[in-house]
Amino acid sequence: MSDFITRFAPSPTGPLHLGHAYSALLAHDMARASGGKFLLRIEDIDNTRSRPKWEEQIYDDLTWLGITWDSEPMRQSDRLSAYKPALHALWDRQLLFPCDCTRRDIQTAMSAPQEGVSPAYGPDGLIYPGTCRAIAPRTGRIPEQKTLRLDLREALSETEKTSFEFQEIGPEFSEQTQSVTCLELLSTVGDVILSRKDFLGSYHLSVVLDDAAQGITHVIRGHDLFEATKIHVVLQTLLGLPTPTYYHHRLIRDEHGKRLAKRDDARAIAKYRAEGSTPADIRKMVGL
Ligand code: GLU
Repeated sequence: MSDFITRFAPSPTGPLHLGHAYSALLAHDMARASGGKFLLRIEDIDNTRSRPKWEEQIYDDLTWLGITWDSEPMRQSDRLSAYKPALHALWDRQLLFPCDCTRRDIQTAMSAPQEGVSPAYGPDGLIYPGTCRAIAPRTGRIPEQKTLRLDLREALSETEKTSFEFQEIGPEFSEQTQSVTCLELLSTVGDVILSRKDFLGSYHLSVVLDDAAQGITHVIRGHDLFEATKIHVVLQTLLGLPTPTYYHHRLIRDEHGKRLAKRDDARAIAKYRAEGSTPADIRKMVGL
């Protein structure tokens, strides 16, 4: 058995589409070809949109595609006890601050006239302008019921690094070192959310803790998550977690060149199944 361990981590918020099929088949093929492991993780922290019926459909679609996973799927909704201590540790180091800004507040702050400067987008949309960073309290009990953001500048200075390196598998399947400078992180990532009002944790925090807990050596995900990878590498350093090798694969697009999304029910795997397609047809459709 090689030391290659990868995963597929869908959110049960809608039907899996051709883009998911590509990502899951690619990761599964690579795990099987290398004699490694393929794991499954259900990213169900968004309890406003996650539904048990979509989780069932994920198992069903993957099985139909011929995908098998090597241990019980991990479910993020069961992982609160892992997220909480990590969050508390970052709070104790004064690297988090509570923030009440709504999406609209951020938009308004960003549209204040700044001639010649167009608002920057990061892994979560508009880069946070820092509204609450200097004024929010950082001591005392952690405000668990509030949105908590990472003070990226403070966090980077704590690491005493000027850049972050990680291994990336390139288009020819060769490994190369990617390097992201702190300056670049400040302007392309910003103070991301690490805990939400309605759930202790966030996508970025959960994903790094879960990848470490599942022993993931290779993260295979779409190129749309390249910006997110940058913040994950910083979080791994802050939390003393290993950084896996990343492979950001091409995206499956519709005929207008747009990336497929959950709302693209027309390309749902279940729909192709119902219309008589075979798993081999799906492989062909996604270019595998
Ligand atoms: N849950 C994420 C999604 O469905 C993927 C997470 C990841 O690969 O880190 O887009």
